[in-house]
Amino acid sequence: MALKNYNFNDNTKISNHFNVSEFKCKCGKCHDILIDDNLIILLERVMIKLNASICNIYSGFRCIIHDINVGGNGFGPHTKGYAVDCYFKDKDGMRIPSKNVCLALEDLGHLGGIGYRCGGCSNESGNTHIDTLSRKWYGNEALSMNKSCCNSFYDYFGIKKEQSINYQVYDNVKKYWLPNVKINTSEYAGNLGNSISALYIDNLKYRVHDKVKNKWLPIVIGRCDYAGNLGNPIDGIQIENAIYRVHLKNGKWLSWIKKMDNTNNGYAGIYGYEIDAIQVKKQDNLEN
Ligand SMILES: [Zn+2]
Ligand SMILES: [Zn+2]
Repeated sequence: MALKNYNFNDNTKISNHFNVSEFKCKCGKCHDILIDDNLIILLERVMIKLNASICNIYSGFRCIIHDINVGGNGFGPHTKGYAVDCYFKDKDGMRIPSKNVCLALEDLGHLGGIGYRCGGCSNESGNTHIDTLSRKWYGNEALSMNKSCCNSFYDYFGIKKEQSINYQVYDNVKKYWLPNVKINTSEYAGNLGNSISALYIDNLKYRVHDKVKNKWLPIVIGRCDYAGNLGNPIDGIQIENAIYRVHLKNGKWLSWIKKMDNTNNGYAGIYGYEIDAIQVKKQDNLEN
């Protein structure tokens, strides 16, 4: 993990969705491009979390002169390869508001920089600033480029975190992440018939049992990582402080599980049988 230096005309694909050329300085001169590896990893995680179809980088690396020309001070994170100003589009091609991007980054546990309404643009049609400097900065760029505006965007926008827990699974046949599903609804995550190989849940503590390796994988908390090995079907799931059940491939829904421990009722699934869907609730208040 590190800062990498690329030639100005490099157009290597550096991850699923990104190419070096997208980060090029817009000054028009032929100088190198700096990009932080961690920034690319973060942007890919944001794309999964938002179930986005594209990420458009409005401004990536900037040389000192260009940074000053666009209103920067000449030594900010863009000049060192640690920042992008960008917007995302959903699967229907609609622009995702800056607010949703900020909340997604917070859900991912991002402790670098997040700039709501980047450059003073609008929430609906504007960009969001994202950087990987090692200091937490949650700003509202329409108000200040220096001061943080809050400790949590949930508080800032008046949204309760508990209500916004989402989960999503990786379809092991289609080979992509399926859309987020809201907790406490009658919806489930998964395509019946297609095994799942990874799971993401906001805020909660969870782990999965890898059918191929025949073992429990490490516990994951929130979206610091996903639980699973892409490609290996899951045959067991445990979630703390939740009520959950799984559907077996070519089978049926199993009983609701209310805890996470080593007993028979402490996990959802049957070892050796692939899971193709999961449903999660926070309280036992749904008729299903
Ligand atoms: Zn430049
Ligand atoms: Zn920026």
